[in-house]
Amino acid sequence: MKPTITAYEYSYISQQLDALVSAYLSVNDKHMRRVVRDTTLERIKPLLPLDEPLVQEFLTRLQPDRLTRKAAAEIVPLLEPLVIPFPELTTKQLSKLFRKVKKLKQPEWATLNLHQLTYLGWNDGGNQKKYLVAPYQDRLIGIQGDLAPQVVKGVCSICHTIGNVSLFVSTTKRSGLGSYTRNGNYICRDSEQCNRQLTDPQGLADFITVVRPKK
Ligand SMILES: [Zn+2]
Repeated sequence: MKPTITAYEYSYISQQLDALVSAYLSVNDKHMRRVVRDTTLERIKPLLPLDEPLVQEFLTRLQPDRLTRKAAAEIVPLLEPLVIPFPELTTKQLSKLFRKVKKLKQPEWATLNLHQLTYLGWNDGGNQKKYLVAPYQDRLIGIQGDLAPQVVKGVCSICHTIGNVSLFVSTTKRSGLGSYTRNGNYICRDSEQCNRQLTDPQGLADFITVVRPKK
């Protein structure tokens, strides 16, 4: 069984099921519920390897006329073995991505669901820093920046969703004698939440292009 579903597709599927549950709660007409369900299936089926038994089980359990929040939360993880996980990086690999950082705070790998990560992001609260590891041109790159302690409601530059964001300021370029180009963007304070909301990789790609360190 080779994983073929990306983390952002997995987030999309999960969001679609959330929307289906909400629709079921507000639509009383049986025919209308069927239309809503068919629309959901139309959207997610192209992302699924349909010949996998796990997918068949997922689709069968998605068919009833009603789906509770609890049932949806149980069937979404059925797909996890088919989702390409984010690689678990060693301390050494991470220090190579952040050469200039002396005491790099490590991500809490034990609490992360690697199937839900299109990128990896974690905060060093004490030093008001955020670290990101993201795919860029077929490899992983590390990006660090200052994370403002203030949390505001706003649109995240990565997942394009409204939520709790903070100003993230990265240094992208040395523009002359001792001066730097600093780049500020509001992004989700909680990167795991951001990943669960990230259903289109373009937002991340655009963000990385802007904030990646340039020589
Ligand atoms: Zn976000």
